[in-house]
Amino acid sequence: MKKVPKIIIVGAGPVGCYLGQLLKQSGFDPLLLEEHAEVGKPVQCAGIVGRGIFEEMRLPISQKSILNKIDGSKVYFNGSSFDLHRSRVAYIISREIFDKELSSGLNIEFNTHLREVSKIKDGYLLKTNNGEYYADIVVGADGPNSRVRKSLGFSSDMKLYRGYQYRLKMSPKEQNYVEVHYVKPFSLFTWIIPEGNGTARVGTISNNPYQELNNFIEKSNLQAEIIEKNAGAIPIGTCQLVKNSAALVGDAACQVKPITSGGLYYGMKAAEFLADAIKEENLHLYEAKWTEEFEQEIKICLLARNILENMGEDVSKRIFSYMKDNVNLIEKIGDFENHSSILWSLVLNPRTYPTIGTLLMGMIKNPKFIMRSLFRVPR
Ligand SMILES: Cc1cc2nc3c(=O)[nH]c(=O)nc-3n(C[C@H](O)[C@H](O)[C@H](O)COP(=O)(O)OP(=O)(O)OC[C@H]3O[C@@H](n4cnc5c(N)ncnc54)[C@H](O)[C@@H]3O)c2cc1C
Repeated sequence: MKKVPKIIIVGAGPVGCYLGQLLKQSGFDPLLLEEHAEVGKPVQCAGIVGRGIFEEMRLPISQKSILNKIDGSKVYFNGSSFDLHRSRVAYIISREIFDKELSSGLNIEFNTHLREVSKIKDGYLLKTNNGEYYADIVVGADGPNSRVRKSLGFSSDMKLYRGYQYRLKMSPKEQNYVEVHYVKPFSLFTWIIPEGNGTARVGTISNNPYQELNNFIEKSNLQAEIIEKNAGAIPIGTCQLVKNSAALVGDAACQVKPITSGGLYYGMKAAEFLADAIKEENLHLYEAKWTEEFEQEIKICLLARNILENMGEDVSKRIFSYMKDNVNLIEKIGDFENHSSILWSLVLNPRTYPTIGTLLMGMIKNPKFIMRSLFRVPR
C-alpha cells in the first residue's frame, strides 16, 4: 500500500486552513500548528474581499461571515475625488467567523509556536515550544514573518509594509460605499469601511500608519468611540515558493496584490494549486501553476507600484486627475482581483502620453530607481 505522506502546515490562518480542507478532501490527514489559542484572533485585516472568494473557490465558502455588501468606492487625494460604482462588487466579512468556519473539523495543535524547522534525511524536523514534530512535507502558511521561510532559507525580495486599523462606533453616510483616501496614489492609503451595523473600520497602510491614521481621524473630525484596534504587516514583493519538500503559501509566500494589499484571494487560489501539486506528488507543479496564473499580473503591478511610490507629488496629482477623467473606463474594465488590465488600457490610450511623458522625466532624473524598478534589485 502507498504510504500517505505526513504533512504539517504551520499556521492556521485562512490560507493554511483552506489548504488543510483541500488536502483532507483528497484523503490526506494534515496537522496544523498554530501559535495562538484559537483561530481567527487577533484580527489583522480590513475584511474587504471581492465576490470571487465566495463564487470562484473550489470548496464552498459559507456566507455566514458576510456583514455588508459594497456597491463602489469614493476615492480621494489632495482635495480632489471621484466615485466608482459597481453593484455588489465586494463584501465586508467578519474575519473571525470566516477563519473559524474554514478551520472546522481540522486537526490543529493550538498554542504551538514553531521555533525552527530543519531538513533531515527524508523529511523535516520542526522544533516548537510544545516539543518536536516530524513531517515528510512541510508547508509554511505562517504569515508575513514566516518562520518556515526564514529557517529554510527561501529567497525573497519582499518589503514589509504596516497597517493599523480602528473599529469605530459610527455609521458612514453611505452604508454601501467604501472611502479610500490616498496618502500616495495608488499604494498607500486610508480607508473607511462600513460594516453596516453602526460600526466602521478605519485604517491606514503606509510607512507610519499609526500616526497617519490618528492625523486622519483628527483632520476628518471622526469623533467616535474606538471599540477595537488591529495592526499587522503586509508583505509586498515576490518569493520562492518551493524548496525540496517544503512550500510556502499565502502571506508567507508574499501572495498579496501589490496595489491594494489584499491577500485572501491570491492566498486561497494558491492553496488550491498547492493542494493539486501535493496530490500529484510534484511540488513544482505548484510553482508552475502560480507563475502561469499570477506572475505576470504581480510583476506589472509591482513595477507600477514602485514607479508611483518614487514619484513626486506633482506626478501623483497628474496621475490621479487622469484616473478621475477616466472613471467610466475604470468602471467598465476594472476587476477587483486583476489590476494590470486597467493599467494596460490606460497606458495604451494615446490620451495618457503626456502623463507618461511626465513620469519618464521623473524616472530619468533618478537612474538608481530605474534599475531597482526594472530589475527588482533589493534596496
Ligand atoms: C491592516 C491589514 C488590513 C488588511 N486588509 C485586507 C483586506 O481587506 N482584504 C484582503 O484580502 N486582505 C487584507 N489583508 C491581508 C490579509 O489579512 C492576509 O493576506 C491574510 O490574512 C493572509 O492569510 P494567511 O493565512 O496567509 O496568513 P495569516 O492570516 O497571517 O495567518 C498566519 C497564521 O500563522 C500563525 N503563525 C505565525 N507564525 C507562527 C509560528 N511560528 N508558529 C505557529 N503559528 C504561527 C499565525 O498565528 C496565524 O494564525 C490585510 C492585512 C492587514 C495587515
